[in-house]
Amino acid sequence: MPAIDVPTPAFMDDESLRAFSDSAARFFDQHAPVKRVAKWREDKQVEREFWREAGQAGLLGVSVPEEYGGGGADFRYDVALFEQISRKDVDGFAASLHNGIILPYVVAHGTEEQKKRWLPRLCSGDLVAAIAMSEPGAGSDLQNIKTTAKKDGNGYRINGQKTFISSGQLADFIIVVAKTDPTQGAKGVSLLVVETEEAEGFRRGRKLDKVGQDAADTSELFFDDVFVPADNLLGMEEGQGFKQLMKELPHERLIIALQAALNAELAVEETIAYVKDRKAFGQRLIEFQNTQFKLAECKTEATLARVFVNHCLEELMAGRLDTAKASMAKYWCTDTENRIIDVCLQLHGGYGYMNEYPIGRMFRDSRVSRIYGGSNEIMKVLIARTL
Ligand SMILES: Cc1cc2nc3c(=O)[nH]c(=O)nc-3n(C[C@H](O)[C@H](O)[C@H](O)COP(=O)(O)OP(=O)(O)OC[C@H]3O[C@@H](n4cnc5c(N)ncnc54)[C@H](O)[C@@H]3O)c2cc1C
Repeated sequence: MPAIDVPTPAFMDDESLRAFSDSAARFFDQHAPVKRVAKWREDKQVEREFWREAGQAGLLGVSVPEEYGGGGADFRYDVALFEQISRKDVDGFAASLHNGIILPYVVAHGTEEQKKRWLPRLCSGDLVAAIAMSEPGAGSDLQNIKTTAKKDGNGYRINGQKTFISSGQLADFIIVVAKTDPTQGAKGVSLLVVETEEAEGFRRGRKLDKVGQDAADTSELFFDDVFVPADNLLGMEEGQGFKQLMKELPHERLIIALQAALNAELAVEETIAYVKDRKAFGQRLIEFQNTQFKLAECKTEATLARVFVNHCLEELMAGRLDTAKASMAKYWCTDTENRIIDVCLQLHGGYGYMNEYPIGRMFRDSRVSRIYGGSNEIMKVLIARTL
């Protein structure tokens, strides 16, 4: 019996979805064996080639319409893919960012010409995507960004600096959040696509040295008078950036909540197996009442997280997921994930603190989930607005 036994919701109970999930699992078994992923952790980035392999296997742009080179499926297929990435521990492969967060910007807000221009290469893995919002001086306070995109002939000149950008070393398609009108607040913000191959003045900075998520190439990016043609303004209308972000962020937050619920579940599974095996004072750890109570609490909370995420997924599929509910899911599931993983690490004793034990790495990797995608404090600010 699985550690968390939440019935598959009706909207996910589908033969072809199961077949897709199984084929993704087989792909990761073949293409992302433990040794290869360990190398990515050492290099602090995934191989470029792996993205093409994933593209060939139909794992990129799963829910992008077929006419633009995608899989033509819906978001449930992405959910199945993200679940397999967590289960197979394919560290650093940022498909949830690429498929789940960035491609939807192009699908929802790109013009027909932009979709035709970018989506096929994003689906094949020829382009790896990133989104650059955060800056050294502005993360939560996005309206205060300093990066500008000033009109210059038939295009824009981008100047500024971004930091903490996931896929920052690999990305060749970057959605940059910039001010096209610095005299305005949110209304002066636009999203511009930088295709790095042709971008003179674009520079990648440090691959940042993080507490966890070793295989992820989170980086600094610099834009020094980078010219982009006017055709690279997403949606071709200035000042729409904040609206576009607000529309897509609930989706991003639900993906983080989903990953948190999955990780909580995996931590409980991992720990149940450990405490059934490890002995102290002549008995198995599972036989201590403290172990049982702690794991009973963890199992309960992980179950609640999964049920709430399933509910939010259903709302999303029905086009009803609002900012407040997505924020609740993001903050509560990531807090819960961190609480559960901490308890599970404790139950592993000293071995829990070793990187060779999955729970140790989960502890390091999960900490950021309360910070990125909008910190949990900002989630509470958003929820509080509805009180
Ligand atoms: C591994 C990693 C990957 C990331 N990937 C990306 C990416 O791909 N693209 C991208 O653009 N960004 C990315 N980020 C950045 C991330 O989104 C920001 O770190 C986050 O939004 C917080 O911003 P900040 O770091 O500037 O913290 P700050 O905004 O300085 O916040 C510091 C603290 O103050 C609190 N705080 C701020 N404002 C308020 C308020 N109004 N009320 C109460 N408390 C408040 C925050 O909650 C936090 O605890 C990533 C970050 C990390 C660590």
